Amino acid sequence: MKTVFVVGAGPAGMFAARKIALAGYDAVLFNRDVKPGGLAEYGIYPLKDKMKFGLRKQFAQVLDLPNVYYFGHVQIGNGYDMTIAELDAMRPSAVIYTCGAQGAHELGLPGERSKGVYAAKDFVYHYNQLPPYSSQDFSTGRRIVIIGIGNVAIDIARWLLQDSPSRATEEVTIIARRGPVEIKFDKKEIEYVIRHIDPAALAAELGRVSERCARVNEDVSPEAIFPEHFPMLMEEDFTPIAPRLSFRFLTSPTAVIAGEDGRISHLEVGDNDLLHRPDGSTKPVPNGQKTLLDVDTLIFAIGDQQDEQLGLPMGPNGYATQVDPEHPEEPVFQLWNPEQSCPLEGRFVAGWARRASTGLVGIARHDGELGAQQVIEYVAKQPEGDALSPEEILARLQEKGLHPVTKADLALLGAAEQQEAEKRRLNYFKYSDNDSMFEAIERERSAVSYFGD
Ligand SMILES: Cc1cc2nc3c(=O)[nH]c(=O)nc-3n(C[C@H](O)[C@H](O)[C@H](O)COP(=O)(O)OP(=O)(O)OC[C@H]3O[C@@H](n4cnc5c(N)ncnc54)[C@H](O)[C@@H]3O)c2cc1C
Repeated sequence: MKTVFVVGAGPAGMFAARKIALAGYDAVLFNRDVKPGGLAEYGIYPLKDKMKFGLRKQFAQVLDLPNVYYFGHVQIGNGYDMTIAELDAMRPSAVIYTCGAQGAHELGLPGERSKGVYAAKDFVYHYNQLPPYSSQDFSTGRRIVIIGIGNVAIDIARWLLQDSPSRATEEVTIIARRGPVEIKFDKKEIEYVIRHIDPAALAAELGRVSERCARVNEDVSPEAIFPEHFPMLMEEDFTPIAPRLSFRFLTSPTAVIAGEDGRISHLEVGDNDLLHRPDGSTKPVPNGQKTLLDVDTLIFAIGDQQDEQLGLPMGPNGYATQVDPEHPEEPVFQLWNPEQSCPLEGRFVAGWARRASTGLVGIARHDGELGAQQVIEYVAKQPEGDALSPEEILARLQEKGLHPVTKADLALLGAAEQQEAEKRRLNYFKYSDNDSMFEAIERERSAVSYFGD
């Protein structure tokens, strides 16, 4: 039997495991979180029920495959539960890393470690109830700034404006270093929060930056920008509601200023001009104009990067791969050893672990499947494997003092959460700390054995 290890059970890993298992190999998943799903479970907006239910069902079907094995609550990496060397010592025929992009881009700002300053992914993990973020302090105040103008920024604004239990929000300001022409969010996403935008205030902000944008031939008049990105604002009977959502373009944060309590009290921002690059794109450059904003919460949603602590060799864009210069657009899944200038034998990467913060679930799934195809082709050429059996892997993890969660445990947890949802008359219930999950698993296990089924 040949065995492939899949590190990370988000969409890329789950669909990679499915493909590998259907090709006739054992697929063994190792996942940091107790539950599978990654950002599909702990990133996608909590109220996108239909999408989440659909994905959970598909993940459950993957886990139903008899030759897919699951070890949750096991984080791979240096200083984590198990190193890559320890993983390799279990002799898989190949490993595919699908552990997403767990490191955040630091802003590199003075004061950025003040209280009330959060990375978007951590904040999103918090409100999606992922331990340990679920029980950490992600308190928000009245005046919140989000840096970045993509879909994640809009999700976070939606939470703060409509669904956060804090109810303190008075204004959310989205800050973008470029102009309105380079808005990254989708029309569908802005619709969730568009009611909070004051068209007059947005028109004034477009006016504030119009001259600078015109210098690079960008028309940012409301007539150009509203139909493209904010069509609903043009409806005659449109009336904005509180709390407010505002935008500030051509602006970069330059310093976080904390109050006596250590929490951010102000954000210093600098205005940018736009310059043309030789390839026709634009580049923001600071023009020296600074402003101090009254801010008590700052969230930076500027994309994530791969976690270096995993221990894979790093390249210029995350984990090292070697792009074929003749086909620079071709995706490369095999990892590369830059020190020895050779491929990392039998080691692959896919999903957001390959290209951080790129695309929706469907894209991560597709990437996982393409990566899995390469793994399958590689493994087919290998001699019969001698990997540890799933039982031996479980024993080895337990010997290390770890508390791995198996497929059987997930089924028990699912049953416990289902009962809890029914008791509370909810569509869905999930435990938000690991201890409660482990207790629920044990409770279910003893109930099952008591009744003998
Ligand atoms: C805020 C937000 C909202 C989004 N909303 C949508 C949406 O509405 N619709 C949509 O289609 N897409 C959405 N996406 C995108 C979607 O979530 C991603 O495309 C997709 O989840 C990426 O899949 P992945 O498997 O590559 O990585 P991830 O989903 O990040 O999964 C990575 C997995 O690896 C595990 N892991 C991490 N590190 C380790 C380690 N060291 N060892 C072992 N396991 C590890 C994690 O536990 C996790 O299970 C959203 C993303 C974000 C951030």
